[in-house]
Amino acid sequence: MTDYTKYSFWLETCGDSLTPRPSLASSVDVDIAILGAGYTGLWTAYYLLRGNPGLKVAVVEKEIAGFGASGRNGGWCSSKFPVSPGMLQQRYGREPARELMLAMCGAVDEVGRVCEKEGIDAQFHKGGILTLARGRHHLPFLQSALAAYSSLGLESQYRLLSGEEASERIRVTNVCGGLFAAENASLHPGRLIRGLARAVEKLGGAIYEQTEVLGFRAGANAALLTPAGEVRAKIAIVLAGESYLTRLSSLHRALLPVYSLIALTEPLDQKLWDQIGWSDRESLASLNYTVDYLTRTADGRILFGSRGAPYRLGSKITDEQDRHDATHTRIQELTREWFPLLANTKFTHAWGGPVGMPRDWMPMTEFDPAARIATARGYTGQGVSTTNLTGRVLAELISGRRTSFSRLPLAQRRSPDWEREPLRWMAVRYMQNAFFRIDEAGKRGKPKPKDVFVAEFLGKH
Ligand SMILES: Cc1cc2nc3c(=O)[nH]c(=O)nc-3n(C[C@H](O)[C@H](O)[C@H](O)COP(=O)(O)OP(=O)(O)OC[C@H]3O[C@@H](n4cnc5c(N)ncnc54)[C@H](O)[C@@H]3O)c2cc1C
Repeated sequence: MTDYTKYSFWLETCGDSLTPRPSLASSVDVDIAILGAGYTGLWTAYYLLRGNPGLKVAVVEKEIAGFGASGRNGGWCSSKFPVSPGMLQQRYGREPARELMLAMCGAVDEVGRVCEKEGIDAQFHKGGILTLARGRHHLPFLQSALAAYSSLGLESQYRLLSGEEASERIRVTNVCGGLFAAENASLHPGRLIRGLARAVEKLGGAIYEQTEVLGFRAGANAALLTPAGEVRAKIAIVLAGESYLTRLSSLHRALLPVYSLIALTEPLDQKLWDQIGWSDRESLASLNYTVDYLTRTADGRILFGSRGAPYRLGSKITDEQDRHDATHTRIQELTREWFPLLANTKFTHAWGGPVGMPRDWMPMTEFDPAARIATARGYTGQGVSTTNLTGRVLAELISGRRTSFSRLPLAQRRSPDWEREPLRWMAVRYMQNAFFRIDEAGKRGKPKPKDVFVAEFLGKH
């Protein structure tokens, strides 16, 4: 019996027993067969069933609903998109970029609306995001981000803060400025994913857990192939396994699994919170390349997430990689560096998981009616709200009931594959190392190392 509570604080405290649902026992015939009971798979199932309650939908999950990133993330449900507004405009033009950003804002509210409608107590709280410049070298990034939002006509959602104004909200060390974005909620990811699974079942969807999909077949006899039999789909199979899809040989180079790790403190007492501030549970970020994301949980803990665990040759994904001592120690040190008041605060949990990075940083949703294959993937660690949007887009593409969502730049597109190994490993390790060195140089007020311009160019998004 796998103890699924060990994979994250969120699964531990989601309020479910996490007893697996029955596995698939033999072949079945359905309309839609979905691989993966994460947000992508379950949002797609949810909207398909809402649109057509008569559909037969089966979700096939290797472990349990929420085992993947959906049950482990930082709890940001945000209008931030993996590709920056400036780059979106450059790639797709002003109107498509603006439509996409507005759809992302809508997705944040839609997640809150569905929680309300389906009685999912996901501790959804809309407190915004505060991105902090910790050091003067970060200030130009805030200004250029605001300029990019302004050029899309979205400036009313953003506010540039001085160091003093940012510190009034939250006492973090070395803050010289901030950018506040209103369209963001903080939530309990475990409660959301487990509640969503129940909502899908209420609508008539079937979820088979502890059933691994070993492969799939396209075309008139489309099916997911499992050890217990086939899940044959009259309309479509949906591949919604995010970074785990890379374990299927035909999708091995579709994404790059990069580990994001989290350390969580014990609940802080009210005296500490009074000194720290942070009263609206804003999601908090730095501008470091190594990506720092922080959440104040509903029960008064600080969650600090960051990258840094090394990419493993061959896009390996293993339970052992969920913990990386050096990175978890660095995250604990960072937490105390940001909040010196926490010198004696204990850390109670450490976990992590893979995020799926597409070669061009751009999420994709695609349905090929001839192959009867649909997929949505590539969220680069920003999937809590984005999966809601892609789930709706996929449901539209599959059902044929299309709205303007189906014309968003993430619809009906595919990212290029990643390079073959060992080139992939060499490039990614160089970039991880360069990003770390850029951040360290900035922190010490030193110029960037000379060789990092290649990493900056390749990592531009
Ligand atoms: C540590 C961490 C922190 C993050 N923080 C944030 C955040 O704060 N905000 C944000 O927006 N995003 C965040 N993300 C990213 C976000 O969680 C993901 O983008 C999102 O959950 C992806 O959902 P998904 O359903 O596509 O994939 P997953 O949740 O990974 O689900 C895929 C599912 O498919 C199953 N599966 C895979 N292969 C098979 C197979 N062969 N057979 C059967 N089942 C299979 C897996 O077991 C898994 O349950 C974070 C991710 C991580 C790992």
